[in-house]
Amino acid sequence: MAQAIPTASIDVPASREIGRLRSDTPGPTLIAVAAIHGNERAGIEAARRVLRTLARREGLIRGELVAFAGNLAAARVNQRYIARDLNRAWAEEHVDEVMRKAPADRDAEDKEQLELLSAVEEAKARARGTVHLIDMHTTSASGIPFVLFGDTLRQRRFVCELPLTIVMGLEEQVDGVLSAFFTRRGCVTCAVEGGQHTDPTSVDNLEAALLLAAESAGIFGSGLLAETAAAHALLERRRGHLPRVMEVISRHAITPEDKFEMVPGFANLDRAHADQLLARDRNGPIRAPRAGMVILPLYQGQGSDGFFWGREVSSARLRASEAIRHLELDKFLHLLPGVERDPTHPSRFFVHTRVARLYPLDVFHMFGYRRIREGDEVLTVERQPG
Ligand SMILES: [Zn+2]
Repeated sequence: MAQAIPTASIDVPASREIGRLRSDTPGPTLIAVAAIHGNERAGIEAARRVLRTLARREGLIRGELVAFAGNLAAARVNQRYIARDLNRAWAEEHVDEVMRKAPADRDAEDKEQLELLSAVEEAKARARGTVHLIDMHTTSASGIPFVLFGDTLRQRRFVCELPLTIVMGLEEQVDGVLSAFFTRRGCVTCAVEGGQHTDPTSVDNLEAALLLAAESAGIFGSGLLAETAAAHALLERRRGHLPRVMEVISRHAITPEDKFEMVPGFANLDRAHADQLLARDRNGPIRAPRAGMVILPLYQGQGSDGFFWGREVSSARLRASEAIRHLELDKFLHLLPGVERDPTHPSRFFVHTRVARLYPLDVFHMFGYRRIREGDEVLTVERQPG
């Protein structure tokens, strides 16, 4: 590991591409995205370090590792974004709308988005194997690094190689994230939260995560690089006593009018006991409904997620859900009373809550259906295909 440096002193790259290493030997592609939130610079330096490490071992490398800055304009002014959050902008309809806009009507993030999209698409077009994408973030609260991903079996296998705490069901809580967009376009993706924005150790965490992601993607053979042992040890150490796998149950969405304020002192993943005071807003105190996990508490002005609420997942439960998904028993979910398959979308169900009120959503969680949207007496539950 290189010497820890303050993240504020990390140079923002002059152009979108931070660096690229392409082997003559065909193989997988790993695309790393850093600073899609402009104030999260740690990933830029982490990508530079991993590119340097792998450049020294070029003979062992196959395929390609390429790193891009996500929101260059916001990174230059060290803000999360200029006009709007670039990591909430990747619904297909929105991307189409941005592409149709006249250039003069495009805001700062529209331009960033189109450039980033074409850079990633070019990397995909020249790929000679499976394309992986890792999106690197940091958080406003302090805490351990962790990984989140859309719950497909392919993506589970990719992230399970990383010795990071896994938070399931978080990506599905938020619409329009980059990683989900590229999962729909055939990539194997995940996002890593590396620690607190200005903490120099966040760079080390993201460096370790990116190096191990390159190994997991197959950019170099498993165990071939001596540096991976140190990366493993670092991430194991950071996890401490927190569970290996947890899942999100709900999202506490906020608007500026809510005057939401998180109680100080929560880490980005933290245990809470039943009835513990978590936050306050204009309606009064917000307490933990039961013992569980607080995930990504908001300690900065910008953002629409107050916090997420979750719980620990046992490894037995994880194995069980993998086994039943291999059997594809979800073919039969529509036979449950009040449950209907969307005829236009094979991975989406409608649950009529008047009839099916008593079904635990756990049944859907087991099959990876973690994207849940509430409508009038109907829940829409969905997962990524695959
Ligand atoms: Zn972020």
